[in-house]
Formats: sequence, structure tokens, C-alpha cells
Amino acid sequence: MKKIYITTPLYYANAELHIGHAYSTVAADVLKRWHKMFGREVFFLTGMDEHGEKIYGSARAAGMDVQNWVDTMAEKAKKLWKFLNISYDDFIRTTEARHTKTVQFVFSRLLEKGDVYRGVYEGPYCVSCESFYTENQVRSAGGNCPDCGRPITEIKREDSFFFRLSKYGRDLLEYYEKNPEFLSPGDKANKTIDTVRRGLNDLCITRQTVKWGIPLPADPSKTIYVWFDALINYITAAGYPSDRENFSSLWPADCHIVGKEIFHFHTVIWPAILMALGLPLPKKVFGHGWWTLKSDKISKSRGNIVTPYEVCEEFPADVLRFFFLREMPFGSDGAFSMDRVRERYNSDLANSLGNLFQRVEKMLKKYFGSKTPPAGEFVSAIIEKEREVLNQTDKFMSEINFYSALTKIWKLIDEANRFVEETKPWVLFREKNEKLNNVMLTLADVLFFTAEILSPFMPGVSEKMFGHLGGRLGKPSPAAAPKNREIPGGKVLFPK
Ligand SMILES: [Zn+2]
Repeated sequence: MKKIYITTPLYYANAELHIGHAYSTVAADVLKRWHKMFGREVFFLTGMDEHGEKIYGSARAAGMDVQNWVDTMAEKAKKLWKFLNISYDDFIRTTEARHTKTVQFVFSRLLEKGDVYRGVYEGPYCVSCESFYTENQVRSAGGNCPDCGRPITEIKREDSFFFRLSKYGRDLLEYYEKNPEFLSPGDKANKTIDTVRRGLNDLCITRQTVKWGIPLPADPSKTIYVWFDALINYITAAGYPSDRENFSSLWPADCHIVGKEIFHFHTVIWPAILMALGLPLPKKVFGHGWWTLKSDKISKSRGNIVTPYEVCEEFPADVLRFFFLREMPFGSDGAFSMDRVRERYNSDLANSLGNLFQRVEKMLKKYFGSKTPPAGEFVSAIIEKEREVLNQTDKFMSEINFYSALTKIWKLIDEANRFVEETKPWVLFREKNEKLNNVMLTLADVLFFTAEILSPFMPGVSEKMFGHLGGRLGKPSPAAAPKNREIPGGKVLFPK
């Protein structure tokens, strides 16, 4: 049985993780929890990219042994993911023996096949981006790195090995054409297709002067280029090449979630490596947008880093998870500010969702002694809305469209608040109208439904909601609220 296989990028063990990294990881976690909620088998991989010149330099600058440095960074990452309620199944580190073995196997296999060959590399390299560029690219960026703008390093005639990337251009174009979902979201596809159409150069995949990397089996004086090394992690973790059973239950990946700045590596270089190995390609690579601070990308090199811990001094981690996916579509760029987080908290969480819980709990307490009604029928208009939400959100989530899914869920919450205003349960109670049963049973149903369907997004908050509701039903299902059930209620969910 094939499991759903979801990955984040491997974060570079060079500096503190910030909200940009947390964004990709939260998204992958929400996806995993979503599928699990419906009983689907899922495997969620994250981890750390621990090789390369830049990491070596950072460790040395800090006066640390490099292995110690990456160990510390990996521990910090795990701590952060725990803090953010991330439920990964595997955390891979590229310095692990299992990964070294797979990378060396891949290299040897491609060398045998003739897709890796010996040559001489000469040209520009950016240590900060760990990326090779052409003279033309550097010239048009004023002599600096075309991506980060930093000074470029010239590599002088290094004896190297190359991957025959140029050979796979036509096959890549054909794959994009037949699998339009592979390049997601769709607006990022054109740039990739153009790049491949213009023709690909072979890629230098070894470094002569960099010692902190995986040594070449054929020539241990060289190490493997850090990107070639890192991309292979997705198949290492799936058990390639030796654990065939595990591998066939996971590969191909269903979705690689990546930031748009590394879309090229995942949609051009990575599939070409897989083609060379004769392996199936991932079904989807989703390149998400950037959070910006005053319209500048959040990043260490730009000096405007925000850590999730800073945001969570004021709010629980679930609020940040929610904000990430509710505030802007996953493929777009958006401005991050504490003011926006506060606004979202007040409007969506405290006012809409928190208020619904509070008023319904209060009424159940007053009218039925903190129980759901002993009798009654569900009001079909609201139950229909729940059904619609269930069907549409699952479709949105399969398209990695968190934004539309949450928008849909909030329409239901707003609808339920309006339903209270329109049906006026306090009048029905006063007039001893038996419709009160129907109205309150239906409202209780919305609480159960909402607590379940939000649990992938805000697992901690949902736990609290289940506490208020006296336990959970297991998955979101319309018209499932039991009658005459104790609803203990509890403290305000989102205090202002
Ligand atoms: Zn750069």
C-alpha cells in the first residue's frame, strides 16, 4: 500500500531557523494531520542539510568543531518543531551514515551509466547560496551573485565531475506537459519551462577544495556538491536503494513543499537525477511564497530575522500556525507583522470562533443543564453547509490550498453565529418553543464539527475544544452530535 509521502526542504544548518522555515514545516504538518484525520496513511519527512563550505565557515568562525556545530543546530531544530506541534515521522540529517551510503551509491551508479563524467570546472560560485552561476548571469548582476547580491567566488580550474543535466531537457518538458500539477502553483510553471527550453548546462557536482562533505567513492580528495547531496535525502529516507519494501510504499513523493527560491533545484535538477536513476518522479513540487518584513524577504543575510519564539511570546504556537495559512494564499508573498497577527487573533479566533463556543456553551448550560438537548432534529440548512465544507475543504487540501479551505471553514463559523442571531434561542426558551431542541442540537453539532476540522491546523486549540465538549468524535462528520451528552465547557478559548 502506497502511503502519502510529504516532505519539507532540508533546512541549512547554518543559522537560526526563522518564521520562513517554520512556514514550510507547519504547512507540511497540517497536510499530514489532515490526511491522517481521514484515516489515510501518511509519511512526513523533514530534516537538516549539514554539509558545505558555508556551514564549515560558520562553525569555524564560532570556534566550534563542525560536527558539534551541526549537532547543535539539529537539536535546536527539533526543539523548535516540538514547540510548534510538528508531528514529523522522520528527521533526516545529511551527515548520517544512511545518507552517505545512498549518495555514494547514486554517484557511482550515474558514473557507470555515463550520466556523470569527469571534466574541469572554472567559473563563478556563490558560497552563501552554495550555487554555481554562468559568467553571463554574474555580469548582468553587476559582478555579484544574481540571487543574494553578495560577492562571488571564482573557482579556478577544478578537476571535477559533472552531471549530464543537458541530456534531460526534452524529457523534463514532456513530464511538465503531461503532469501540469508537478509545477505548483501554476503561476510558477512558466519560468521553469522557459529555463529548460532555453537549454540546460551540465552541472558540476563535486568540489575539490571543500572538505566538509560526502567524499567521492572514486576519488576521496573530492566531496559531493552540497545540493546534489541534499536533494537525494528524499529517497534516502524512503529506504533507497536497499530497503525495497519501504521504498515502494513511499516513492514517488506526493508533495515536496519548498520555498520558491529553491523551486529550480526541485523541479529541474532533482527530477533529472531521478530520471537518470530510472526512478519515478514526485507528483508535485509546491513552491510557496515569502513572508516579508517591510517588503524585504525575511532572512538571516538581510538581517531582519523573526523567530517563531518571538511571535509566541504573545500567542500560543497554534495561533502562528493558523496565521500562516489563513493570512495569505500559500503561493503568494505577504507582509508579516505582529499587528496583522493580533488582528487575525481578534477577528477570527476571539470574535468569531471563540464567541461561538462561548455563547453556545452558555446556552446549553442554562437551557439543558450543560448537556446537548435530549431530543430534536438537526436543522438541515446548517448541516448542508457542514457537508459542503467537508467536501470542498478536502479538495482544496489536495491542491495544497490551505487558504481556501480555511476561508470555507470560517464561512461556516460566521453562518453559525448568524444562525444564533436569527433563531434567537433565548426567545424560544422563554416561550417554551420545542424548536429550541433543534436549534441547540444543531449548534452543538457545529462545535463538534469545527473542533475536528480545525484540529490539523491548531492541534492544541482543538484539544481544548474537545475538553469543552467532553471528548472528541474522531473526525468531522455532519449531524453527528450525540443527544443528551454532557458538555462541560471551560475557560474562554481565546482571551483578549
Ligand atoms: Zn548568493
